[in-house]
Amino acid sequence: MSSTIGFIGLGHMGGPMAKNLLKAGHRLKVFDLVPEAVRSLTDAGASAAESAAAAATGADLVVTMLPASRHVEGLYLGKGGLLESIAKGTLVLECSTIAPESARKVAKAAAERGIPMLDAPVSGGTGGAAAGTLTFIVGGESRDLESARPYLEVMGKNIFHAGAAGAGQVAKICNNMILGIQMAGTAEALALGVANGLDPKTLSDIIAKSSGRNWATELYNPWPGVMENAPASHDYAGGFGVDLMLKDLGLATEASMHVKATTPLGELARNLFALHSAQGNGKLDFSSILTLYRKKG
Ligand code: NAD
Repeated sequence: MSSTIGFIGLGHMGGPMAKNLLKAGHRLKVFDLVPEAVRSLTDAGASAAESAAAAATGADLVVTMLPASRHVEGLYLGKGGLLESIAKGTLVLECSTIAPESARKVAKAAAERGIPMLDAPVSGGTGGAAAGTLTFIVGGESRDLESARPYLEVMGKNIFHAGAAGAGQVAKICNNMILGIQMAGTAEALALGVANGLDPKTLSDIIAKSSGRNWATELYNPWPGVMENAPASHDYAGGFGVDLMLKDLGLATEASMHVKATTPLGELARNLFALHSAQGNGKLDFSSILTLYRKKG
């Protein structure tokens, strides 16, 4: 089955996800505010749309992968918003990590127009996006998830139904709170070991086979040169930005305030990433938090 897909937001994640849909034989109409991001997709065979509305018009499926809640609400809602350009019955997959309330608000506005929408944030990083092995964490109606499944399977390996609209975002926020805490903790431990004379690669190999093992030590080591493919070995370029991690930890804070939950480690991680961002590192990969701990010279 070959479909026409309107894909909006072609950044670190959206770009490779869109390429996988193209490779699977779908026709893609793409839009991003950054011309180079669009060019990378047109070089791969997609057609460039003049606007988000043009990408969505006549599509069988609309996918968006944007930075944060304000971009998603700004794109879909209000007069001239994207929902006005999407035909009734067209499935919408909103893959950005945003506030659960924003996801619910946009899904409700879509439903009022007869447009089925899923919140489908992802986990797995840019490597998972390129390899088509992302985990999709979906909120919305089961029947819509079944319609989306063939497309999700092209971009991902694990597909979970977390619950009703917004539930995908809640699960994703919980996951990323662990990720932020874990990355900061891994950086802290590696810096401690190296300051005490250990080789970072040797220490990382030991942790990766011991009880301190985690996603950072297995796939995304924050110490430069330990893992050839990790952003740390490429001046912390690409990957998952510090400011995006800060946004996600802020979403965790908001979620905790709604229900008076206690999240001291999440808060501490949010403060560490806020400090790191304030020092001018917002656009670097989030594993650069290591530089807060690493001794100079
Ligand atoms: P990114 O900043 O690289 O890409 C976002 C893209 O959206 C940019 O190219 C930007 O120009 C575009 N954009 C913004 N507003 C737009 C608009 N109105 N119309 C068209 N394009 C618009 O971000 P990313 O790393 O690709 O992350 C996207 C989302 O995925 C975020 O919510 C992030 O939290 C989440 N996420 C990222 C990773 C990762 O490893 N990078 C992993 C999991 C989830």
